Amino acid sequence: MVEPSAGGKRHRVVIIGSGFGGLRAAKQLKRADVDITLISRTTSHLFQPLLYQVATGILSEGEIAPTTRLVLRKQRNVQVLLGEVEEIDLQANTVTSQLMTMRTVTPFDSLIVAAGAQQSYFGNDHFATYAPGMKTIDDALELRGRILGAFEAAEVTTDHDERERRLTFVVIGAGPTGVELAGQIAELAERTLAGAFRTIEPEECRVILIEGAGAVLPPMGEKLGLKAQRRLEKMGVEIQLNAMVTNVDYMGITVKDKDGTERRIECACKVWSAGVQASPLGKMIAEQADGTETDRAGRVFVEPDLTVKGHPYVFVIGDLMSVPGVPGMAQGALQGANYATKLIKRSLKGHDDPATRAPFKYFDKGSMATVSRFSAVAQVGKLEFGGFIAWLAWLVLHLYYLVGYKNRLTTVLAWFITFLGRSRGQMAITSQMIYARLAMQQLESHKEALAAVEQAERLERARGAS
Ligand SMILES: Cc1cc2nc3c(=O)[nH]c(=O)nc-3n(C[C@H](O)[C@H](O)[C@H](O)COP(=O)(O)OP(=O)(O)OC[C@H]3O[C@@H](n4cnc5c(N)ncnc54)[C@H](O)[C@@H]3O)c2cc1C
Repeated sequence: MVEPSAGGKRHRVVIIGSGFGGLRAAKQLKRADVDITLISRTTSHLFQPLLYQVATGILSEGEIAPTTRLVLRKQRNVQVLLGEVEEIDLQANTVTSQLMTMRTVTPFDSLIVAAGAQQSYFGNDHFATYAPGMKTIDDALELRGRILGAFEAAEVTTDHDERERRLTFVVIGAGPTGVELAGQIAELAERTLAGAFRTIEPEECRVILIEGAGAVLPPMGEKLGLKAQRRLEKMGVEIQLNAMVTNVDYMGITVKDKDGTERRIECACKVWSAGVQASPLGKMIAEQADGTETDRAGRVFVEPDLTVKGHPYVFVIGDLMSVPGVPGMAQGALQGANYATKLIKRSLKGHDDPATRAPFKYFDKGSMATVSRFSAVAQVGKLEFGGFIAWLAWLVLHLYYLVGYKNRLTTVLAWFITFLGRSRGQMAITSQMIYARLAMQQLESHKEALAAVEQAERLERARGAS
């Protein structure tokens, strides 16, 4: 049973993250006699599966990222705090978060960590400058700026090679995100942009999908992978398998093929969708819990009840947990949140004994990926299917899981315009979309340099005083 909070206050639950796991956990505790603090570094609940549609001008960022505090406005037992969690102390039972210069220490009785994962460049973080990933709204908007900006630059340049470089789009990683993005860039050029330029033919652009493994959509199996591959190829997407990207620079990428030969692809717009790395909070927790470790991607090997060893009310869920058979997908996070909150609620009634808890059981509801309008591939249990039926299933499911009636309505409208017509409603781009990340990185390194100088000055003063 959980201990009552100090001072006789209500049981305090801290949730880190406002993604699938964090938001579901907060909602599941709606009627529980608890005080919840949900801390997240973003103000919104991001529906990551549709990020590629923001990047390719179909949806606006607001449609896939409603504001968390507005979603939870009527749930009086939740406070939403914006901030970057920098410290979790499992001895003191506190979470420390930072917003600008403001530091907040929040105590907890139960903790649910749903901080997810970020892009991984497998130790080549410098690739990020030229090949952004797709994990955040900033990423999607930057990509929209880069994709549409490349067509604009191709129209203006008079140099033939440079025009070809600008009209070559490379997507690295042929998982669901890579497949969906490559398909949408091809469709954008073919249906929306065709006829809108005078010196270029957008539909003649090259879209290349590169994959290190020997198949498209490796986790979905050979049959569906081949189906998706054929559909993409029909749309003009070039698929290059068994190809490892060994370098990324401003002008293009270097690729190493299976036989060891290296070659260049000159391209202006490249996207990284090849790997994920769990939030560093996973390692921070594991280091404080004796006998708890993380896997190579930084996910925490949790106990069968999703807790960390020795801390029966510290749950790690979603993309940050490592549980055999549970993929890094929305269902894993949602079901983990349902399970953890059920235990907290049971414990409030005195019905929870950590020693005899039934382990978390994942129910696989299947997976799917869209390839183009009217075409998707889906896997539900042993059933594998593709084409229009799979696309319809994809449409309905994504609408069901989108948060907010208004968002569902405007999304249906945007899909109607895009999939039945040729136009897209979100084609505006700004310089900030393209350059802001680099400017922010410079600002960060400037701040770090400034902090180092201040630290050196403090040490100097201390030495002088002694
Ligand atoms: C492009 C893309 C497409 C995808 N498509 C699909 C799909 O089609 N189907 C599917 O099932 N899954 C899909 N996924 C995977 C799915 O989105 C994830 O499995 C799911 O989001 C995991 O939920 P989570 O709650 O663990 O983490 P997330 O949803 O990633 O949420 C993490 C939260 O933690 C916050 N956070 C992180 N670190 C900190 C910190 N230090 N301090 C404060 N807050 C922090 C973040 O701001 C965020 O709110 C896709 C993912 C991506 C990126």
